Amino acid sequence: MDEERLITKLIRTCGTNNPFAIAEHRNILVLYEQLGKHIWGYFSNAYRIPIIHINEDLNEFERTFTAAHELGHCLLHAKLNTPFLRRNTLISVDRIEQEANRFAIKLLIGQAKPEPGETAKFFLLRCGIPEWVHPYFAGEQPDGKSSWSAFCMDDQSFWGC
Ligand SMILES: [Zn+2]
Repeated sequence: MDEERLITKLIRTCGTNNPFAIAEHRNILVLYEQLGKHIWGYFSNAYRIPIIHINEDLNEFERTFTAAHELGHCLLHAKLNTPFLRRNTLISVDRIEQEANRFAIKLLIGQAKPEPGETAKFFLLRCGIPEWVHPYFAGEQPDGKSSWSAFCMDDQSFWGC
C-alpha cells in the first residue's frame, strides 16, 4: 500500500489525522523522555511493543510533528532497525528519514486545502508542519499532483531514527 492510500485509510478508520489519536488507535505507546538537545524523537519496536519516544523539551507543535514522523517509521518501517542501519551502508538511513518526513507532512495536511490566497508557508504552519520541513513540500503542480523536492538539511540529525 502506498503512503497516500495508507494515510487516507488511517484518517478514515481513526476519524482524525491527529498522530497521537492514531497512535492510540493502533496501540502504539507514546513516551516523553529526556533526549538532549538534538534529538526530537525515535521509534523502537523491542519485544514487538511499538513505542514512539518524544523529547519532553519540545513544544506542542514540535511534539505533534515528531509523533507524525515516528508514526511514519512505525507504519512504513516497523521491520527496520534504523540505529542498526545507520551503521551500515546497504540502505541509506536518509531515504528512511525522507519517507518518514513525507508521511508526516501528508498526514498532518490530511484533508486540509489552502485557503484562497493563502501562502504555502501559512498553510503548512496551520497544518502543524514546522518551517524547516517546508522545503520538502513544493506545493500543488498544474497537473494536480503534489511534488516533493529532495530534502536539503544540514548534517545535524533531528531524529534518533
Ligand atoms: Zn526518523
